[in-house]
Amino acid sequence: MSQRRDYIREWRSNHPNYMREYQRKYRADHLEQCREYEQNRNKEHRKEYIRKYCQTHRKQIRIRWKRYKERNLEKVRKIAREGARQRRKLVRLEIFSLLGNKCSNPNCLVPNGCSDSRCLQIDHVRGGGSGNDKKARNRPSTFYLKILKEIKAGSKDYQLLCSNCNWIKRFENHEV
Ligand SMILES: [Zn+2]
Repeated sequence: MSQRRDYIREWRSNHPNYMREYQRKYRADHLEQCREYEQNRNKEHRKEYIRKYCQTHRKQIRIRWKRYKERNLEKVRKIAREGARQRRKLVRLEIFSLLGNKCSNPNCLVPNGCSDSRCLQIDHVRGGGSGNDKKARNRPSTFYLKILKEIKAGSKDYQLLCSNCNWIKRFENHEV
């Protein structure tokens, strides 16, 4: 039996092209299974290896990443923009839920207060504040994060108003 095994091993090593072709064909025919196997093979070990590699090759990774970024500038920018948009959306939704998810004006034109997130706007109760800070408004991500931080710290400076109520308030306060 072991003779037979040795024979097969030898034959395989003497016919590398045949084996390569056989493996290529096998992989093509069993693509899904192969992928699954490769993904799960030594998973923990690989994770650990990658973690260590990242720690010891910071410089190389940074250079490689820089080179990649230069070559794929548009792609990288697009992904970054999309990520920022998603994060902004999440932060905005969190602020909305902390502020009650509906218009705070008791005389809101919508019965029970408008609760359509498409019309709701974050309003600074006393006017002004970072809500009117033009510089902050130009960087919406930071702007929303700042407000979220303030609300979480217990600030009562913000409320939600639907766009109708917000414009009426601005008009009455002579902000427009
Ligand atoms: Zn309203």
